[in-house]
Amino acid sequence: MPADLLSVPLSLLRICADVVFPPVCHSCNARLPHGDSIACPACLAAIVPVDEWDDAYREAFERLKEERTVSDFVAAWYFEQEGPLRALMHRLKYGGMTSIGLEFGRVLGERIRDAGLGESDIVVPLPLHVSRMRERGFNQCELIARGVSAVTGRPLRTDLLRRTRFTPSQTPLGHLERRKNVQDAFGLRAHAPHEIAGRSVLLVDDVVTTGATMRSCAGALHGAGVRAVIACAVAIAR
Ligand SMILES: [Zn+2]
Repeated sequence: MPADLLSVPLSLLRICADVVFPPVCHSCNARLPHGDSIACPACLAAIVPVDEWDDAYREAFERLKEERTVSDFVAAWYFEQEGPLRALMHRLKYGGMTSIGLEFGRVLGERIRDAGLGESDIVVPLPLHVSRMRERGFNQCELIARGVSAVTGRPLRTDLLRRTRFTPSQTPLGHLERRKNVQDAFGLRAHAPHEIAGRSVLLVDDVVTTGATMRSCAGALHGAGVRAVIACAVAIAR
């Protein structure tokens, strides 16, 4: 990069970039008044926030607690089969819009702080299998976890867990099939028990459906002697 360009204020570069690539809503493509948001006000307003008194939240939490591997649960929104959140999640996972993952993580991080759980020891994303990582190029849960880490100030650890089995997509599966599909799908790296025994973990996923993946992963963390696993998800499917 020429030295002259380095002296140009970042704000000016930002304005130039906005003229060439005007910021648009990642859900409906409407032009955004400011480039610092992932979606327009109308789309953001259409995403339903989770309230801990909702039946849907309580049912999801009950399922997560089934094997006693998860002690708490924080989620930001509801994931509907249609609508802006689905569009945003799609742009993140298949369109590579990594800024969406970071923004999701920041919102989730604020929810975690509001729930009084921001003092947990570490932030751990659900790992992707290496073959899916190769195919997609990034782990969307890791981007979300990065946003959580930025807001809570808790360190991000991506080196503790690994996906030991390649699991087919959970989407067409029922409750029991999903559980079987992810059983023993996660393993610990050799150094993990030594480093995280007795610590509390914010375990980060994108969308919780039956909770089977989260429970399986939390079980692996308990194998390392963690004190508590707090399940954290951008959204609950309903
Ligand atoms: Zn929009």
